[in-house]
Amino acid sequence: MKKLISFVFAIGILATVSAQKYDSIAVKYANTITDKDLSKHLHIIASDEYEGRETGKKGQKMAMNYLIKEFKSYGIEAYNGESYIQSFDLIEQSSSGIELSLGVNKFIVNKDFTFSPTVSNNKVINGEMIFVGYGIEEDNYNSYENLDVKGKAVFILNDLPKKVELKKSWKIIDRIKLAEEKGAVAVIYCVENLDIMIQKYEHYFSKPKMELKDDVIDETPILKITKQMAETLFESEKLDYNKIIKKGLKKNKTFSVNYELTINKPTSLLTSENVLAYIPGTSHKEEVLVLSAHYDHIGKDDSLVFNGADDDGTGTVTLIEIAQAFMQAKKEGHSMKRSILILAVSGEEKGLLGSKYYTDNPIFPLKNTVVNLNIDMIGRYDEMHKNDSNYIYLIGSDKLSSELHDLSENVNKLYINTQFDYTFNDENDPNRFYYRSDHYNFAKNDIPVIFYFSGVHEDYHKATDTVEKIDFKKTQKIARLVFYTAWEIANREERIKVDKKE
Ligand SMILES: [Zn+2]
Repeated sequence: MKKLISFVFAIGILATVSAQKYDSIAVKYANTITDKDLSKHLHIIASDEYEGRETGKKGQKMAMNYLIKEFKSYGIEAYNGESYIQSFDLIEQSSSGIELSLGVNKFIVNKDFTFSPTVSNNKVINGEMIFVGYGIEEDNYNSYENLDVKGKAVFILNDLPKKVELKKSWKIIDRIKLAEEKGAVAVIYCVENLDIMIQKYEHYFSKPKMELKDDVIDETPILKITKQMAETLFESEKLDYNKIIKKGLKKNKTFSVNYELTINKPTSLLTSENVLAYIPGTSHKEEVLVLSAHYDHIGKDDSLVFNGADDDGTGTVTLIEIAQAFMQAKKEGHSMKRSILILAVSGEEKGLLGSKYYTDNPIFPLKNTVVNLNIDMIGRYDEMHKNDSNYIYLIGSDKLSSELHDLSENVNKLYINTQFDYTFNDENDPNRFYYRSDHYNFAKNDIPVIFYFSGVHEDYHKATDTVEKIDFKKTQKIARLVFYTAWEIANREERIKVDKKE
């Protein structure tokens, strides 16, 4: 009996220690985050004048200057005494400039085949291309038996042998890896509906690509080819591609042709910037909470501006308002225990480049970075919540820290009471949003994250993602939610614990 009582008692204590308490001081500063102010900032950075804020281009620099001007006006000092920015070099490369000949045939990039890496060193490689069948290696089926592909290009059938029991599932990525291990210098494989994909995403394929300068290394060229191109290749060897796909390749069949691959892509060097507003803490100053959003968008096509009001204008203006609120609290004697780093990153639309550069070159050590709260598109509703603005998708909150997840839940109940939708938090969700915004670069470094997102809508990545479609009341609600969550994380006694690993 006694034991049971003490057990109940112990749970009671734990509950009061871990649960968050209503803090009227936090409320005072949360209330400085208003729909009116959010709207004022967004009408500026999502205007046509900002040209869609493309990374490395004029509009992004204008948005950078706007952020700096705002942070300065709140009395936030440069993080290193000099600067609000972290610059990084980028390589921008055209999607054209690749030539491929195989035997007597010449093929055209982004028509007959696609090429990766999207940004690479220019070079010419040539020699022998060997067809290696399925490109797998098991005890009872070895595509590389009696084949030496060192220094050669390989052509893999993107399919599996029929009626052969295999131990491995042999995804294409496994086969590319195996080919590289065998010394192949380029890998070619067929993707059935590639021609349709190229047509559908023509705009994406034809656009120039960017990569962090430091990340451009000599990677193996991977060429996905259309079914039509595969048919042509097989035909020149008197083989029927479709028949082989249907019936399977009975035994290891191989042929080889000469190839030449010329990579000569027009290339330019650009610089871009992350913008940092650092508000130092007090007793736990060395510990840093990062609040992030990307302020870049996809730019413009001639006179057509992609304003990116929701993506991620809403996240950007939320950062501005949160910075102001924390700074005002500090000025009025309510500094946080931990430091707050407002991190407006660029390069997101080009492949999470700004946040990757930050986590590869952190200004504040990652081991002292306690949490990252990331905001990307919070001002609209998606198809699933057409008539309901009172929701937000949360992604990642429980992946590394159950404590963070509980804190986030409690803060919402205490102050905001919006619906948390965890649909996209599911590991098996095909959208894979967990990997698709800047928080992922923190999560992969074992820093707990929460990603706030209200879903995709019909104007996603279109010129129609404009400011008049934003629900600023909703944006205000989520901005305050993020602020309260940050307040709690920055001001609690104990650092948020990591209890799971990536
Ligand atoms: Zn975005």
